[in-house]
Amino acid sequence: MHGSIVRCIVEAQSSLRSIPKQIRLGSASMRRFVAVTVTMLCLLLHVGSVQAANPSVVKRAAVASIDRHSAEIIHLSDQVWAFAETALREHRSAELLAGYAQAQGFRVERGISGMPTAFLASFGEGKPIIGIMGEYDALPGLSQQATATKAPLVQGAPGHGCGHNMFGAGSLGAALAIKEQIEAGKLKGTIRYYGTPAEEAVGGKTYMARDGVFDDVDVMLAWHPGDRTMADTVSSQAMVDVIVEFKGRSAHAAYDPWNGRSALDGVEVFLHGVNLMREHIKPSSRLHYSIVAGGDVPNVVPENAKVWLWARDWQRTEVEDLLARVRKLAEGAAIMTETSSSLSVQAGSWELLTNLAGARLLNDNLQWLGIPKYSAEEDQFARAIQRATGTDVMGMSASIESLEGQEPEGGSTDVGDVSWVAPTLHLTVATAPRGTPSHAWPVVATGGMSIGHKGMLFAAKTLAATMVDLYERPASLKDVRAEFEKKRGDVRFKAYLPDGPPPLPAAASHE
Ligand SMILES: [Zn+2]
Repeated sequence: MHGSIVRCIVEAQSSLRSIPKQIRLGSASMRRFVAVTVTMLCLLLHVGSVQAANPSVVKRAAVASIDRHSAEIIHLSDQVWAFAETALREHRSAELLAGYAQAQGFRVERGISGMPTAFLASFGEGKPIIGIMGEYDALPGLSQQATATKAPLVQGAPGHGCGHNMFGAGSLGAALAIKEQIEAGKLKGTIRYYGTPAEEAVGGKTYMARDGVFDDVDVMLAWHPGDRTMADTVSSQAMVDVIVEFKGRSAHAAYDPWNGRSALDGVEVFLHGVNLMREHIKPSSRLHYSIVAGGDVPNVVPENAKVWLWARDWQRTEVEDLLARVRKLAEGAAIMTETSSSLSVQAGSWELLTNLAGARLLNDNLQWLGIPKYSAEEDQFARAIQRATGTDVMGMSASIESLEGQEPEGGSTDVGDVSWVAPTLHLTVATAPRGTPSHAWPVVATGGMSIGHKGMLFAAKTLAATMVDLYERPASLKDVRAEFEKKRGDVRFKAYLPDGPPPLPAAASHE
């Protein structure tokens, strides 16, 4: 790293010398001034990477803490993996993580924003306040053993097809590493772990952001298990989730159909409009729907019909535009079919507001720590999964993606909502073989064995090291916040939610 500073200075000085003498700055003292300035600039440019290459004692201690607690963190992840509880039913998972945090000395507040499975664990006092998110909800129908062939653990049961078992436990490990440094008097400020349920449905963070629980946080961090490793510089898609209902008039479909007005006709005309509109929306926009009610039997003119529709784009402003047009289509369809229509927003999330200053910190720490090494058995396991899923057989990703040129992938997350309230640094770490599909059995399989464990601990260390940077280097924290304020401008987060509490599942069904 020192070599690159020297190279920078030498190159800068030689390019100064190559400027023709007649236009070079005049006096010797002025030339000296320029030389010193260039040297200072080179030092400044390299200061971030030098600090990452020469990690502080505290940073090393935070990473060592994760090594010391690694068996516990892995055990937490494996238990959440086995519980495999879906959105807002994560009772055992949330209690496991909250209980562990409490046992480690965090102050724990259970039940946030009307969600019994949301919690906040905090330690320390005053500024800066650094927060880290954890998720722990599973996906329906993805039950899978930790094997390289598709084999459900319990047929039809949920499984961790998005790796949130690792997300929840890994983030808690990072928070614990910071807590220990604050406790030892090595860092000053507050660490918060946000237990955020229901990412896959409902959007727990959207309710939490609506209720202001992130408002006083200086910087938030999150990560996600994936098939590659990188400090994320690309956004996620903004989306809105709406229900469009039509109400008609029931009648006997053969005896007096003229007395009926079909709600299903309303749905058909509406969706025809939606599909014609596709030709006239931006290529970045997505509309997808399902008909969730369309009458019961053919001989009754349907009185009620219902469409569930999502609109997405990389920009929330485009989503707003789509929503306004979808509203008009619903109104128009009701007029044409002499029915009535209503549109209600159920949920949604904003696009992730990326933060390059933060991504650089994450990236420096990824580089310093280095990709985990995989054993021959793990490599075989990864390749077997790739063969089973018909993807290129190349094992685990062996590199850290650069900050430039990252390809955006479709999808939305409620982390996006948080990123408009507090600057949010986002990391992706490989816990599954390169190229294997997400929300599918391979993610469940590797998330329950050593490949997933290694990725999770690597993520925890990177996040902890980056948090140490934010506590120890006020200038870095200031850069992250300045970029956030500049990008956010005058826009203030407003949740895509109806008023009122989140839709909790029936208490009886905590399976
Ligand atoms: Zn996920």
